[in-house]
Amino acid sequence: MPAPLIHIDSSPSLPREADVVVIGGGVVGVFTAYYLARRGVSVALLEKGRVAAEQSSRNWGWCRQQNRDARELPMATKSLDLWEKVAQETGEDTGFRRCGLLYLSQDENELAGWAKWRDFARTVGVTTHVLSAEEATERGKATGRKWKGGVFSPTDGTADPSKAVPVAARGIMAAGGTVHQNCAARGLELSAGRVSGVVTEAGTIRTTTVVMAGGAWASSFCNQLGIRFPQAAVRQSILAVAPGANGLPDALHTARVSLTRRGNGGYALAISGRARVDPTPQQLRFSREFVPMFARRWRSLAPGAFEGWRQGHESLRKWAVDDVTPMERNRILDPKPDMRQIRLTYQRACELLPELQRVAISHAWAGYVDSTPDGVPAIGEVEGIPGFLLAAGFSGHGFGIGPGAGHMIADIITGSEPIVDPRPYRPERLKTAAWGKVAEF
Ligand SMILES: Cc1cc2nc3c(=O)[nH]c(=O)nc-3n(C[C@H](O)[C@H](O)[C@H](O)COP(=O)(O)OP(=O)(O)OC[C@H]3O[C@@H](n4cnc5c(N)ncnc54)[C@H](O)[C@@H]3O)c2cc1C
Repeated sequence: MPAPLIHIDSSPSLPREADVVVIGGGVVGVFTAYYLARRGVSVALLEKGRVAAEQSSRNWGWCRQQNRDARELPMATKSLDLWEKVAQETGEDTGFRRCGLLYLSQDENELAGWAKWRDFARTVGVTTHVLSAEEATERGKATGRKWKGGVFSPTDGTADPSKAVPVAARGIMAAGGTVHQNCAARGLELSAGRVSGVVTEAGTIRTTTVVMAGGAWASSFCNQLGIRFPQAAVRQSILAVAPGANGLPDALHTARVSLTRRGNGGYALAISGRARVDPTPQQLRFSREFVPMFARRWRSLAPGAFEGWRQGHESLRKWAVDDVTPMERNRILDPKPDMRQIRLTYQRACELLPELQRVAISHAWAGYVDSTPDGVPAIGEVEGIPGFLLAAGFSGHGFGIGPGAGHMIADIITGSEPIVDPRPYRPERLKTAAWGKVAEF
């Protein structure tokens, strides 16, 4: 039972040329093309499978500033405003609501960390409420437990992963851009060292600017061009229950289990950060760079299986642009969920919120979360290939900041004042070791 996702139609035909070609129809690629099209730039979005069918429909839907790393917080704040505007601009509902996010804890260290983040957030004008034991117990009354404390971030919210990105993709077409599903980009054409076209499975598009927003596939695509992009993906499993549970918070995080109300009135349930590390050739290649990241998160990670190898997204193989590529062999990265974890998640959720016992599991799925070594995305033009921009490695936080990232990329391309400072995201930073700089979240 894969993650629920609405279908959208593609544009009728592939253009022969475009000002900008965006590769990847996840939240990042879609919002990049959306903001370009709305400025009158001719833009074509290429998606090898269906818009949002990989990470961008498989996530919880949290759009948060709470506990963001300082490097990402400005983009998170701007993104919340942009999420609000998308509904007005498109006339369609993305499911976005500033419902606030609730964090509850029994752990003094965790509470101290949240208080420290609150102090930092204040310095940049972000409001979050650290909750006393009484306040936390009151806000968490659906659990029927006493809590030592918590946090409520009133200006954060959630959007609906089953429709938010497809809605924005329709917005691209409404603004004059084109969207091409089942159309993989196989490679680039270069003239005098700079981008002159994109070779797709359906023909070549002449262009001078390409954005690679291919999520977990970005590094293997870059590898074809001799670009070293250290990226690793871990497999997270998640489930949804049917509508029918009442009186629960819209979005709740606890160390044992988290829940999020979905657009249909059901809930997504997951264990935060818990993932399987499936060995792949690419992971072995970049293993040294990821030591700090995995060392920081080791308590939540467990060794996986050959699922990642089988999927082919982290292959080190070179492919030819006149032949079928791994992206066409695997239109949608749909890894097997870890069913032991799914059962554990459901059990913990029912213990925490007995109301959930009334509703059955409706869906269970997994997603590969692609990450950089320091947990901050790589966004910007790649050194050595003028006209080629990378936008990947969103490290488990990309859904919420997708609009801000897309806006910033559109700003860079059109030479406008960037909505946020792009420097923390520069891909070149990954050429130096990330030891000690892993994002706090
Ligand atoms: C279980 C889970 C929970 C999460 N929870 C949250 C959350 O609550 N909040 C949050 O902010 N983030 C969350 N995330 C992370 C978030 O989903 C990702 O960071 C974000 O969706 C990444 O978007 P993307 O556009 O970079 O990649 P993707 O959504 O993976 O999209 C990349 C797209 O590129 C396409 N593609 C790749 N190569 C090519 C090619 N050569 N040609 C054409 N198309 C190509 C792929 O088919 C894919 O559709 C979660 C992720 C998971 C898996």
